[in-house]
Amino acid sequence: MDCLFCKIAAGEIPSSKVYEDEVCLAFADIDPQAPTHFLVIPKAHIGSVAEINAENAGLAGHLLQIAAQVAREQGLESYRVVSNTGAQAGQSVPHLHFHVLGGRDMTWPPG
Ligand code: AMP
Ligand code: ZN
Repeated sequence: MDCLFCKIAAGEIPSSKVYEDEVCLAFADIDPQAPTHFLVIPKAHIGSVAEINAENAGLAGHLLQIAAQVAREQGLESYRVVSNTGAQAGQSVPHLHFHVLGGRDMTWPPG
């Protein structure tokens, strides 16, 4: 499949990895929106949060576990986990990813 994050997961496109295991990868966002900004993705292709179901919910939970672990390792006590789902919400890469952003004050609601 012609998917940017599948290629990053396969190592075909380089990334600044901060964590990797058999099923997931975390790497620095190429266009950081906060002092710390990394993405956590499954290695298997899942399109977005909208495709999380009973079969892959364990993997989705694992991605959040890793988001918390890497945030802790990076010294973040406060951070935001975001997964833009669909074009109207700003999703630009159609492969599930959790953004983890921290290191600055944040506002609510998001834009
Ligand atoms: P979204 O727009 O929510 O789908 O998030 C996609 C994110 O992927 C954006 O924050 C981009 O900056 C990031 N991104 C795009 N290409 C790369 C890449 N090659 N390496 C790391 N991050 C990327
Ligand atoms: Zn993919």
